[in-house]
Amino acid sequence: MKIAVAEINLGAIQHNLKVVKKHAPNSKVLAMLKANAYGHGTTQIAMALNEADAFGVARLSEAVALRAAGITKPIVLLEGFFEAGELHIIANLGLDTVLHTQAQLESFLAADLPRSIRVWLKVDTGMNRLGIRPEEVSSAMSSLKGHTNVLGTPILMSHFGCADEVHHPLNQQQFALFTELLEQHQGESSFANSAAILSLPDSHQDWVRPGIMLYGVSPIEATSAIDFGLMPAMTLKSSVIAVRDIKEGETVGYGATWTAKKDTRLAVIAIGYGDGYPRNARNGTPVVINNDTYYLAGRVSMDMISVEIGTQSNVKVGDEAILWGEVLPIEYIAEHAETVPYELLCGVTGRVEKQFLQGVNEVKNQP
Ligand SMILES: *Cc1c(COP(=O)(O)O)cnc(C)c1O
Repeated sequence: MKIAVAEINLGAIQHNLKVVKKHAPNSKVLAMLKANAYGHGTTQIAMALNEADAFGVARLSEAVALRAAGITKPIVLLEGFFEAGELHIIANLGLDTVLHTQAQLESFLAADLPRSIRVWLKVDTGMNRLGIRPEEVSSAMSSLKGHTNVLGTPILMSHFGCADEVHHPLNQQQFALFTELLEQHQGESSFANSAAILSLPDSHQDWVRPGIMLYGVSPIEATSAIDFGLMPAMTLKSSVIAVRDIKEGETVGYGATWTAKKDTRLAVIAIGYGDGYPRNARNGTPVVINNDTYYLAGRVSMDMISVEIGTQSNVKVGDEAILWGEVLPIEYIAEHAETVPYELLCGVTGRVEKQFLQGVNEVKNQP
């Protein structure tokens, strides 16, 4: 019996990278591997993404793990360093750093480094999260250019706040500001996340930065992954561990939030919020068993959920249940749990065994 397993289709990841390249044929690809490759397993995904040009992570520990696994491609620290002391590790491991505040810039320029580091200068064009101000770019660039700590020419980057809403006015405002800054900039530049790769082709620049689309999830609510030609990489599965009868009027689960409208049957599946299945998933969230769709009945427990199977189904103990994946888009589950697919993918917990598949052939098992 498969209990709480995440199958990761590495062939799907490679296919999705091809989709990125089809949309942005003239850009290099900085593939996002942060947060354990959106829950898919950093090292295995890095190896599958051999055709990417660089990898992006949010924590130094993630970059250190990739280097320890033998990954030699450029790795960009998307938030840069948190303390100047980290710069030695960054230099020694040959990592790239983002610089996004004046303080970071100053401590970078003042550091005594064993070797130079490639820099991605991040400018805030209107999201108001990270980045120096547009009017600070030219002096920051002049202090970086030719400095002994800087490898090559700094790359200018920015990030969209609303790229998933194609017609949001902020997109054009941010892009116009970035374009203006590029007039003074001689080096490479980068702006587009998945949503912008698919819907704002002008923003592709020298480097695109796909995350969620590599994992086969649509970044844009109105369009499905299939419509973009993306293949979901993760299938979350478990098994039915009990089938039981329930009488009309009886309730199910903690808080007794679901009541049987008629005599019916339930299947109990060994998956819960302890595995990363969202506790917020409401009554009626779909689950697929034997190619049929059934619906969540009652609250998600730590280790289990119940679904109504009715009196006519032949679902039995040991049958495989799919919580999300190719046959059941994670976008639906996110909607039923009032969250986004990103959070569901990152939230898969350590006790869920990952099984890596290459196309249809299983190549590797790892807890
Ligand atoms: C995570 C991240 C991305 C990728 O975003 P997706 O929506 O997953 O494609 C791109 N750029 C930066 C700076 C990021 O942190």
